[in-house]
Amino acid sequence: MNFIDKIKDFETIDLIKKANKLSLKNNFLTITLERAIFLSWWCDKGNCKFCYMSTQKNKISDPKKAKRKINSILAESELCKRLGWNIEFLSGGYKSFTTEKIKKIATDIFTISNEPVWLNIGITEDLEKYGEEIIGITGAIETANPKLQEEVCPSKPIHEISHMLDRSKDLGFKNAITIVLGIGETPDDIDYLIRYIKNHRIDRVIFYSINPHKGTEFENYPQPASLYYAGVVATIRLTFPNIEIICGTWSDNLANIGILILSGANGITKFPLFKMFGTKYGKRVEKEVYWTGRKLKGTFTDEKKLGPPESEFNSDLNKYLKRYINESLKNKFL
Ligand code: SF4
Repeated sequence: MNFIDKIKDFETIDLIKKANKLSLKNNFLTITLERAIFLSWWCDKGNCKFCYMSTQKNKISDPKKAKRKINSILAESELCKRLGWNIEFLSGGYKSFTTEKIKKIATDIFTISNEPVWLNIGITEDLEKYGEEIIGITGAIETANPKLQEEVCPSKPIHEISHMLDRSKDLGFKNAITIVLGIGETPDDIDYLIRYIKNHRIDRVIFYSINPHKGTEFENYPQPASLYYAGVVATIRLTFPNIEIICGTWSDNLANIGILILSGANGITKFPLFKMFGTKYGKRVEKEVYWTGRKLKGTFTDEKKLGPPESEFNSDLNKYLKRYINESLKNKFL
């Protein structure tokens, strides 16, 4: 029986056990906290049916105002470094920043974090312009069912994303994809996902569960069942023993974390860092990781790691650092 049949036959627990054994054999003993850093709150495409940005496109009259201040982006990356969080990627809606600006931001973050950055900036022809500040390119294909992909993301054809990923690999970057579970795909679509990972030389898969944003047609969708999510992740871990897997789970679904780690996740994501820091929710994330027997890289609770409101790199970041530190501290009694 193959892995996909096991999911369909309700034998996910067997897959999880095997995936956990494989992860331990591979020494995947540390779990990372991943933080996507957003460049803007506006996207020129703005029509992916599940996306928050699709609810904003017609509300924002001046897209320039939806761009974040660059110093606030850099301050956020400095705080991530202090807390031991990885930067999942720099993410921007289409046409929010020029290639030159994105490269400059990525270069500054590379200086701050000492790690090259992943990009998730949509389909771009400008890959040659990036260099050592970038580790890899993320193709937001969003679902493992190409027909569904066309319906849900009408303005980002999968073949254009695939072409970008193939060029990215040829230029020496790593490749990642994002997959949102719970938007209508079925276990049979995992077959396509497996072929996609092989054909486009994917190094990292980032799974999310659908976040039913108000105003989208998914607003009343349930998030995917924990055992279904775990079965998909375990299948990818067992098929690709060395691939990096990041799993997103929302703060209302923290009990997913332990099971996703046992299924093969190397990192976890999708948390509102400043809102959850030091709260019972942040503590819960740490406990979920603890009970998998893994070590967490980074902290959700250690206030000392927040550090001073003065930047080590540029005093122009101080006012944002101060704001983020205060936001992180003020929630601790929630
Ligand atoms: S392209 Fe990305 S940011 Fe823009 S609407 Fe689609 S998912 Fe959202």
